[in-house]
Amino acid sequence: MTEPTIIQLQPMPEDWQRALAVVAHPDDLEYGCSAAIAAWTDAGRAVAYVLASRGEAGIDTLEPAKCGPLREQEQRASAAVVGVSAVEFLDHRDGVIEYGTALRRDIAAAIRRHRPELVITLNHRDTWGGTAWNTPDHVAVGRATLDAAGDAGNRWIFPELVEQGLEPWNGVRWVAVAGSSSPTHAVDATPGLERAVHSLLEHRAYIEALTDEDPETYVRGFLTGVAEQTAERFGGTPAVAFELFSR
Ligand SMILES: [Zn+2]
Repeated sequence: MTEPTIIQLQPMPEDWQRALAVVAHPDDLEYGCSAAIAAWTDAGRAVAYVLASRGEAGIDTLEPAKCGPLREQEQRASAAVVGVSAVEFLDHRDGVIEYGTALRRDIAAAIRRHRPELVITLNHRDTWGGTAWNTPDHVAVGRATLDAAGDAGNRWIFPELVEQGLEPWNGVRWVAVAGSSSPTHAVDATPGLERAVHSLLEHRAYIEALTDEDPETYVRGFLTGVAEQTAERFGGTPAVAFELFSR
């Protein structure tokens, strides 16, 4: 019996200058995606982060009023490690983020402010690879981001945004979904991997609450493992994979 052919991922488009990453929680980008972001900012591209929540429901032993500001601080430090200084929070409530027009409007507004050609988000599907159930926040924010890429370009969908001075932005060419079980494209993780490790390590309070393992061993093992798993579909190069939707 012959081995099934492994479909190879295509390199991500390079002809863009600005990206906006929109996710539900602090750490969503650091669990796998930030090696690509480090490579992009190295190349002189601007990347901004928008987080729907402050991740305030993420640590069992810390009440949300204390957890939110701590995780916001960790997220800003984490973004700085990979060359991202613009980090915004939309203040939807962690754990119960609802898909709907309020979320779409907030994301469309962020897209109009930042005018990205590439929008990045996290797995919007019900499961991770058909085996683990995804969280409702990721599903809601991922779907709303895919939708808001279109909303941002339509003057009449959220007319109140135009009244606030946010003119339509029709320049989103792609939405790239990280953590998808049907990836189509990838970015070489090698140059950014070390910074990705340090970027995720900035979520120290969260990680220490999550695992008894040494944080650096845990983070390095996780991120290297994901990048190496992707290598078999990217010509042997450790990589960050995305499912790319064109617009
Ligand atoms: Zn998350």
